[in-house]
Amino acid sequence: MKIIRFTLLFVLFTYGTFTVDAQNFSPPLRIPVSLSANFGELRNNHFHSGLDYRTQQSVNKPVYSIDDGFVSRINVSPGGYGLALYIDHPGGHTSVYGHLNSFSKRIADYIKQKQYEKETYRIDIELKPEEIPVKKGEQIALSGNTGGSGGPHLHFEIRDTKTQDPLDAKDFLGKTMTDTQKPDIRGIAFYPQEGKGVINGSSNPIRLNIGKTKSGDYGGLGKTIHAWGTIGMGVKAYDRMNETGSVLGVENVALFVDGVPVFRSSMNRFPFDKTRMINSFVDFEDWRNNKSFFMKSFVEPGNTLTLYETINNGYINISAERNYNLRYELSDHYGNKTTYSFVIKGQKQAIPPVPVCDNRMSVLLSNWFTNADFMLSIPMGNLYTDICYNHRQWASLIYYSDVYQVNNKPVPLHRSAIMWLKMNDKARKDTTGFGIIEINKKGEEEWMGGKYKNGGIEVAINELGGRYAISRDTVAPVISPVAPSDWVKNGRINITLKDEKSGISFYRGEIDGKFALFSNDVKSTTYTYVFDSSRLTKGQLHQLIFRATDGAGNKSEYRIEFDY
Ligand SMILES: [Zn+2]
Repeated sequence: MKIIRFTLLFVLFTYGTFTVDAQNFSPPLRIPVSLSANFGELRNNHFHSGLDYRTQQSVNKPVYSIDDGFVSRINVSPGGYGLALYIDHPGGHTSVYGHLNSFSKRIADYIKQKQYEKETYRIDIELKPEEIPVKKGEQIALSGNTGGSGGPHLHFEIRDTKTQDPLDAKDFLGKTMTDTQKPDIRGIAFYPQEGKGVINGSSNPIRLNIGKTKSGDYGGLGKTIHAWGTIGMGVKAYDRMNETGSVLGVENVALFVDGVPVFRSSMNRFPFDKTRMINSFVDFEDWRNNKSFFMKSFVEPGNTLTLYETINNGYINISAERNYNLRYELSDHYGNKTTYSFVIKGQKQAIPPVPVCDNRMSVLLSNWFTNADFMLSIPMGNLYTDICYNHRQWASLIYYSDVYQVNNKPVPLHRSAIMWLKMNDKARKDTTGFGIIEINKKGEEEWMGGKYKNGGIEVAINELGGRYAISRDTVAPVISPVAPSDWVKNGRINITLKDEKSGISFYRGEIDGKFALFSNDVKSTTYTYVFDSSRLTKGQLHQLIFRATDGAGNKSEYRIEFDY
């Protein structure tokens, strides 16, 4: 019964991709369409929630509202989407425009007013329908490269207004793009399930790259696969599209065993609170270790993403000594399809037993590990699968604690765990300026901070596999003016702000004792105030005070007088 229901759904899914666009939206840009990223693309700790439109390698392309509606939210921040605009439309959808360089005048005036009211550059406000209504095709902004953006482009989303789930914008604007290119398979992976399956005598995963012959056909696996018991599969693949050189994410993945569809994922919407489940969607260990994205074709117990259709959660049982014929089918939004067929040889062999484990952690429980110097507490709902926690620690002369290796391999957590490290004796007399750092494989340190508690520091971590210790930052941020004699001539004040170790956690500029709006982007150490004669009287001597605090609480202040 279950299988019949699945097959029906599968047929509906396959032919459902060719539906007519649900709304008649107009495109957000009026330059030829070229995408650098598509919906659901695989990113670090999240699925990409929109389409990235190229903007001809430059900023300041006019951005237009895709339909009538009203500005429902404005978000300004140094990172993330930078300058971002949200517009609600009458049909129940919200469009989102990110990494903008500037807003159109009435939106810019509105947000500046709010920034002065709240005395902050970083702002995230929701608006009522009557405040800023917009018309379809109205220019609302200029494109940019603000926030967490690696080059000029427009990040564009369509969301379900009610749930705020991002949707595949190609379902609405697909007709404005062409795509005749098929997805491209790069690798196949095999995952014997611990204690239940074996491949070529081992319970370790096998990850194989798939090459192409001179004629452009795919090569073979390059290795014979003998399997027994329960295994999972994975595939590494990318998509291509006309008018762009970028490699994009694959929308639909289907796996067939002897012609039977056992797994299908179809990326067309997801809730934001599940976007971190990408770390279970992909082979997280290989992503962390090799920067490679194998998409798993089985669903782990803690993964509740709803983009799957499976039999037995995609797990395959090899229980006969015969050839199993497997086939991957990858397709894009326009039905361009790539297939790859290969064979697994069923061969009876001993299944390695589950290794002895002192600290087994269950997906169904809250889990913890503690000793006199260390505490790790993982609330329920953080693991995607059971793990064996492995702990190592050793004394250090450099740091203010032992060095801790928190598990021997990368394991994703859905939200976060609390970790506490004890300070050593030399740190105990004065507890200011301390924080936890993560030490990467190259020995580089990243400041995580945390708060002092019971003779140690506590911090939240969101994956296992890292190396940590307590370090100290006693050096305050450095504030430097940039060419103050040119400030008035240039119409702006530029200041650079740097902190070597723990980074900037707070800054504030004041002119004549009143808040002055300094903007900043995460990619730059420059903080900018644009002279505003409606807020600052001309023909006077003014005093600027700029203050900053770093992640360890060290404070700096800079004062200067200037004529304006
Ligand atoms: Zn984007």
